[in-house]
Amino acid sequence: MPAPRPLTLCPPAALDWSRPGTPAAPEFGDIYFSTDGGLDETRAVFLRGCGLPEAWQETERFVIGELGFGSGLNFLAARQLWDKTAPHNGHLHFVSIEKFPFDTEQLRRALLAWPELKAYADELLAQWPGRVRGFHRLHFGTVTLTLIHDDIMSGLDDLQMQADAWFLDGFSPAKNPDMWSPAVMKKLAALSVNGAKLATFTVAGAVRQALSEAGFTVERKEGFGRKRHRLEAIFGERSGQNISYTQSVQPTIIGTGIGGLSLAQAFRRRGIQPHIISDPDHIAASGNAAALVKPRLDLQDRPESRFFLGSYLYALKTYHEACLHRSITHIPKSDSDLKRHHKLLAQAPLPENHLTSRDNKAMFFPSAQVICPASYRDAVLSGLIVEKREIKTLKALPFPLFIAAGYGIAKLIPEWPMRFSRGQITWVTGASPLNEAISYGGYAIPAGEDVLLGATHDRLVSGNNPYRLQVEDDVKNIAQAKTHLGLNFTASETPSRASVRVTSQDTLPVIGQINQNQYVLTGLGSRGFVFAPLLAEALVSEYFGDPLPVARSLWEKLSHHRLLS
Ligand code: SAM
Repeated sequence: MPAPRPLTLCPPAALDWSRPGTPAAPEFGDIYFSTDGGLDETRAVFLRGCGLPEAWQETERFVIGELGFGSGLNFLAARQLWDKTAPHNGHLHFVSIEKFPFDTEQLRRALLAWPELKAYADELLAQWPGRVRGFHRLHFGTVTLTLIHDDIMSGLDDLQMQADAWFLDGFSPAKNPDMWSPAVMKKLAALSVNGAKLATFTVAGAVRQALSEAGFTVERKEGFGRKRHRLEAIFGERSGQNISYTQSVQPTIIGTGIGGLSLAQAFRRRGIQPHIISDPDHIAASGNAAALVKPRLDLQDRPESRFFLGSYLYALKTYHEACLHRSITHIPKSDSDLKRHHKLLAQAPLPENHLTSRDNKAMFFPSAQVICPASYRDAVLSGLIVEKREIKTLKALPFPLFIAAGYGIAKLIPEWPMRFSRGQITWVTGASPLNEAISYGGYAIPAGEDVLLGATHDRLVSGNNPYRLQVEDDVKNIAQAKTHLGLNFTASETPSRASVRVTSQDTLPVIGQINQNQYVLTGLGSRGFVFAPLLAEALVSEYFGDPLPVARSLWEKLSHHRLLS
C-alpha cells in the first residue's frame, strides 16, 4: 500500500481575469463561462438539455450530478429554476465534483457577473467550504448541494447516488481529457437511474462514443449562440423513479443525546416528524451548559481525516443558532504536541479563516464554536412528541427504529465490544478572568462569572453508577487547568455533571443498518457534537436513497460489520 499523502487544501484554481468579468483557466486554454450570454447558455445546454423543469415535476426528489463545479453558475441557475417550478414537497439534490475549487474571494468575484443571481450567490458564499478536500453538504431550503473536492475519478468512485440528470461541464475535451474518458462515462452509467438524462456543450466524437459504449443513447442537438451543436443523451429506458419522503412510515428515534437530535433534524429537513423515545434516567453530554465544536486534525490524507474536516464544517452550520461564542485556542500539552501543531499549520488542511497559529505556539480556530446544547435541543425537538421510557431490548417492529442511545447501547446490543468512558465536568470560579475558550486535552470555557472545566476520562467500572459525582474528579479538572493555564480555580456552587462516552476499539464512529428495520448511530466518543450532524444526515440519506454526503470509502470504514469480524 502506498504511504498516505499529507492532508492539504486542494490545488487552487489558476484564474486569469484579463477578460473583463470572465474568469479563464490558462492551463486548460478555456473559460469558465462567457459573460456574453453565459447564463442563457447554461439554461439552453444543461437545464433544457436535461428536460428541466418538466423532468422534476413528477417526484419528491430529483438528483442532478455535475462534473466540474467551477464558479457554480450551473448550480445557481438550476436553483433559480427550481425556486420557480419546484414540485410540491420537492427536494432537489445537486452533486458536483471539482478538483480545483475556487477560494472564497475568487468565487465572489466570478459571481459578480450575474446580478440576477446575487441572492443565491451570497447564500452559496456564506457556506462555501473553500478548498477543503473531500465531501461537503450545504443546505439551501429544499435544495441540497453536495460538493466533492477531489479528482473526477476518485470523486465518482466515492459517490453513492442515483442521478436523474447529468451536466457534463469539464473544459473542452481536447484540453481536459480526464473529464471525458470512457472510464468516467461508465461510472456515470453506474450512478444513473434508468431514463437519466445527460447534457453537455460538446459533440466531440470521442465523447459520443464513450457515452454510447456506457449505455447512453446520444443525440446531437442544435447548439446555443455561436456553437453549432450540443449533446443530449438518455440512459437506458425512460422510467425515472418517484420517491416520496412524506408518505414513508414514521420513524422512531431512541435517544435525545446529540446523535438522536441530529437524526431528528435530518428527518425534519425532509418534512418528516419522527417519534422520539428518551430514557428518563439517562444523562447525555448534550445536557451540559456549554460544549466545544472544534476540528479533529490529522496529518495524513485518509478517508477519516477528510470526514473530520467535512463534519466540522457541517457542524458549524448546524449550530449557528445555538452558538454562544466563536473561536477556540488549543495549546500544546507537550513538545511533541507542539511539533505536530507546527506540521499541521504548515500543511494547512483548513483555510486561514478556520486555522491559524497564535504566537507560533498554540493553534487558533477562529470559527470554532462554544455552543449551548440545550438551545439546539429545544429547537430540534420543538413540536415533536418525546416519550419518556426506557427500551430494554430490541425486537422486530413494524416501523423503522433509529438507535442513538449513547450508553444505552450497552444494554440494547450487549454483544458489541464498545468501550465506555466516564467524564465529569466541573464549574469553577477564579480570580483570573478568562475571556476565551481554551483547550489543552481538557478545556476551560468562560460562562459569566464562572468557568466550566472538562472533562475527566476514566474507563467505566462495571457495576458503578456512572452518574454519581466524584469529588476527586473535580480536583483533577482543577489541577489540569492549573498545569496548562497556570490559573487557580476553586469549585463553584454550580453542581458538577457526569456522563458516559461510547467509543469503538478503533475510535471511529459505528453506523449503519443492523436489521431489517433497525439502524444504529453510536461510538461518537468525545466528538459527538462534531461528528453527529453529518453522520445522522448520512444515515438518513442512505435510508431514503438520497446521495450520500460522505465518501463511500469512509462509510464502509464506519460500518458496524467491522465490530464482530
Ligand atoms: N460548471 C462550472 C460553472 O458553472 O461555473 C464550469 C466548469 S469549468 C468549464 C470546468 C471545471 O472542471 C473546472 O472548474 C475545472 O477545475 C474542473 N476540472 C478539470 N479537470 C478536473 C478533474 N480532473 N477532476 C475534477 N474537476 C476537474
